[in-house]
This record gives sequence, C-alpha cells and structure tokens, in this order.
Amino acid sequence: MKYADYAKWTNRATQWIETHFATLRDKPVRAQTQIGEIAARLPASPPEHATDMETIIADFEHIVPDGITHWQHPRFFAYFQSNAAPASMIAEQLTNAIAAQCMLWQTSPAATEIEQVMIDWFRQAMALPDGFKGVIQDSASSATLSAVLTMRERATGFTGNDTGLSTQPRLRIYCSEQVHSSIDKACWVAGIGQDNLIKIPTNSAYQMDPAALQSAITADRAAGHTPAGVILCTGGTSIGACDDLPPVLAISRAEDLYTHLDAAWAGSAMICPELRDIWVGAENCDSIVFNPHKWLGANFDCSIQFLKDPDIQRRTMGLRPSYLETPQASEITNFNEWTVPLGRRFRALKLWFLVRAYGLEGLRERMRNHVKWAQELEAKLAAHPDFTITTHSRLSLFTFQHTPANADPNTASANLLQKINDDGRIYLTQTLHNGAFVIRFVAGQFDCTRDDVMLAYDVITELANSAPTGDQS
Ligand SMILES: *Cc1c(COP(=O)(O)O)cnc(C)c1O
Repeated sequence: MKYADYAKWTNRATQWIETHFATLRDKPVRAQTQIGEIAARLPASPPEHATDMETIIADFEHIVPDGITHWQHPRFFAYFQSNAAPASMIAEQLTNAIAAQCMLWQTSPAATEIEQVMIDWFRQAMALPDGFKGVIQDSASSATLSAVLTMRERATGFTGNDTGLSTQPRLRIYCSEQVHSSIDKACWVAGIGQDNLIKIPTNSAYQMDPAALQSAITADRAAGHTPAGVILCTGGTSIGACDDLPPVLAISRAEDLYTHLDAAWAGSAMICPELRDIWVGAENCDSIVFNPHKWLGANFDCSIQFLKDPDIQRRTMGLRPSYLETPQASEITNFNEWTVPLGRRFRALKLWFLVRAYGLEGLRERMRNHVKWAQELEAKLAAHPDFTITTHSRLSLFTFQHTPANADPNTASANLLQKINDDGRIYLTQTLHNGAFVIRFVAGQFDCTRDDVMLAYDVITELANSAPTGDQS
C-alpha cells in the first residue's frame, strides 16, 4: 500500500467503524472467545510476500472483532472506563498521519506549545493555582514513576542518578493501603524497593491516618532511614477511596517530604466545582496526576501530570546529550527532559479537539449524569432484599454483594459476576474489600444513557434469580 492510496483505505476503515458504532449496543461487552481462539486464526509464520489491503481488511473483519472487549460499549461498567470521544478519535487520526516524534520543541513546536496551553486550560478548569505547570505522559504509571524518581533524587541531594542507591540510607515513601498497584511498581522500578514503601493504615473512611503517618516517619528517622515522599489518592481504584489531604500535607511540609497525588480516575470530575470536596488541599501537592483518557473522553493514551515546581523533576530526568542540544534552550521547553521516555507522541491535539467539541460544560454534564445514575442504581440495589451495598457511591463507583439467604456472599457474588459477564449485556468486575469478594459498578462511558444504567439493574437481578446461590461453582 502507498501513501497515495491512503484515502481509499481509510474510507474503507471508516465504513467499518460506522457499522461498528451503529451495532455496538447489540454486541456482548466482554469478548466471549476462548483462550487461543484468535491466535489459531492466524498463520504460524510471517508472510514473505506482500498481501493486498483488500485481503488484510477482510481478514481483520473476520478475525479480530470477536476477540475485542468493547471499551466503548455504553454498558461497560467494569474497571474504569477508557473513553474515546468521537472528536478525540478524529484528532488521533490526524496525529497518526503526522506521526511526529515530539521529544524537543524543535521536533514539532505545535506539539509542545499546544501541550503547554492544554495543561494551562486544565489547570484553570480544575481550579489549580496559577503557577502550576505540567506535562502529558502516556499513563498515570509513568507520571507516578516520575514523581517517585523525583522524590528519590530530591531526598539524596540529586546524587542517586550518579552514585546509585547502594551507599545511601534507605529511602522511605509513604501511602495508604488504598493506592493503586502502580505506586508499588514505581517503587520497585525506582530502586526504592517494596519494603521501603510504607503502607499507612486507614481510618473508617479508608483515608490515611495522619497520626500513624507521623509515627512511621519519626520511627524511620530514628532508625537512620531517609523519608523521601508521600503518595496520596483521590479516587482509589478498588472502592474510590479519597485521602483527607490537609492533615497529611501539613505533616509532609513539616517533614520536608515531596508529595504526589494520584487522581488518575477521579481527577476528570474535578472540572465540576461541586465535586471538588474530595480533593480539598490538592493545590498544596507537588505533583498531581489524572488521566483524561479515563472518564474525560480523550483516547488512550493521555495522562496529565501537574507540577508545582517542574525544575525538580527536570533535574531528575533532564539528560541532555550533545545530539539533543538545540538553540535557544533557555527560552523553550523540551518535554523529554520531564519524563522517562525520550520519544513522545503528539497527545495534546486530542485534548484540544475534545474540549472544543464538547465544551467544559458538555464534559461536566456527562460526568454529573454518570454520578446521578450510579447513585440511582445503588439505591435500587440497596432496596432489593438479595443485595447489600458494600461501599457507597464515590462519584460514579460503588460496590455490592449478592447476599441471598442461606448462601455464602463471596461465592454467590463470584458466581453472579461470572453469569453477568458470560451473558454479555453489561460488563462488571470485582475487587477484594475488607477480605470480601465485592462487585464494582462504575458508570462513565461517553455515550452511556440512564437506560443503559437501569438495564444493569434488570440484568443483575434477572441473573441473580437464575444463579445457583449455594457453594456449587
Ligand atoms: C487507572 C489508574 C492508574 C493506572 O493508570 P495507567 O494510566 O493505566 O497507568 C493509577 N491509579 C489509579 C487511581 C487509577 O485509577
């Protein structure tokens, strides 16, 4: 295929996409294929000679769609949504065609400058103070790794990169038990080590206990360790836990620790002023991450990391070999110096399209509806004798158990979840909460309607009636 044939084949792909969206509500949300079924449809060896695009697209149509779990299905209520608003998809198509590598300002000034403007638009939309800067990363995992590396370098007087950690005192990082596994992984990869990530107990609202944090820091200093940073969460993945930020930030400031706030999912909703009570004090964090590629509507991947003082992170990762030197370096931003990877996609374009095509008000309206509908569903399930709400709606996320009489609730819930996902009309996933198997419900797909959410009630209660309620699995 040649560049000159691009329009022909992209039109062909567009036709497929149109049919795909027109029929999406009728498809099972979670892929129903068996392990190995898709791989078995591909030849075992690569082709030596060119295949025509007609055949390639026909094979795509026959082989791939069955094996797709439809994240853009309006009844995807699992994990956290990974949205792709139509306007963002169009921007991503242009980004694909431009295919620029945006590591330096001069390798595509538009990418760097639109990124800076988008960061500032979202800073304003989320009511963060003037002065916060930021960078778009591929994922919250990368942003958190960047923050942990920054904690490490700051705590070692910027010597860790040079000397390694073997001659340093143990660095300690603190978080609650409700944080996402990406925090653990960042500590593995940054050389901090799992043993030095101290999980502070939580109170009855699943928030980090400030007194326990203070004692842990004091004990660590007494033992000769070096406290380096605190990681907080607004909207934890399991049940949506939100730390009470001010008391923890007060301790962090007094102890001179760097702070990072993980709001990967819930951050999108912070464009709604009336929902901001869950992150009061966020403006006092050093680093904040949220994923526009989750609830907001930008295509994966797109993760914004706000930074109060970007120089600390740039000092941590700003390697500048001679082949990357550019003129006017003091007047421009070369974003690769803020991140682990050198290469960067043009991710700001889809944010620009997204915000303009729907307006902040259009984006807010969606999230407000999702929150309202999730609460409505929670109330309906709470009123049903065979269901128990295990954690209440935090924004649009709540958890529940199937609790019929004379059955083990963990087994009954696991059985019901499997029935639901084999049925395919909706998609839900589970978490372990206080040792119990609970089913998570999250609303947040871009096209989701109230009817979609209410259909979840019908599917859950219908399949619960047909579910074996005992211990047979
Ligand atoms: C989804 C999520 C992450 C991980 O996000 P990636 O962008 O996939 O790395 C981290 N923290 C929280 C709270 C999340 O919800």
